[in-house]
Amino acid sequence: MTETGSAADNGHGRDQQAEPGGRAAAPGRLALVQRFVNTWNPEFPVENDRLATTRDATTWLSDNGLMPHGARPSVISAAELDALRELREAIRSLVVANVTGSCDAAALHAINIAAAATPIALAVGDDNRIRLQARGPGVHHAVGTVLTIIHEAQIVGDWTRLKGCRQCGYAFYDASKNRSATWCSMSICGNRAKNRAYHQRQRIQVQE
Ligand SMILES: [Zn+2]
Repeated sequence: MTETGSAADNGHGRDQQAEPGGRAAAPGRLALVQRFVNTWNPEFPVENDRLATTRDATTWLSDNGLMPHGARPSVISAAELDALRELREAIRSLVVANVTGSCDAAALHAINIAAAATPIALAVGDDNRIRLQARGPGVHHAVGTVLTIIHEAQIVGDWTRLKGCRQCGYAFYDASKNRSATWCSMSICGNRAKNRAYHQRQRIQVQE
């Protein structure tokens, strides 16, 4: 175990408002996509997953306004939960790609599968602007909402600032002027990555 710190103290607290490294959350509705990706951190045990069970996921979706208005929040199905988690990890790949520049084909395929199964319509708002709107029942509404927010963020240019930490996969918003951040927090994952690189170099030197 060469990593410093344990999962419990690595700064990715349970509080949704507290972002590692003192960063601000993503602006506007993009924060919802950020929260969705961060319902779990790959470095945490699965018990920490806010989408661990169908009941947990239903609660999270309802709390985040992702169940259709007026719909009584019946518990989502196991298949819907699987699809939701698969979409989450695919979107994680997309935000990591905002750092690395490339996204694996499996993730893109998963997003296309989710998009194809999701009713999305055009609708005009009070501001006379035409937008995409999720129209499906149940979990389709959540999937459609997440995808339309990503689409909007890509149009206005916020999307590439939502990044997946190169070390831990946490989704963070890079508000820096030069958009160069690659870790959720320099003091947490940045140092861990540097320590690891240092130890690898030391090992190579010992072997030489
Ligand atoms: Zn990180």
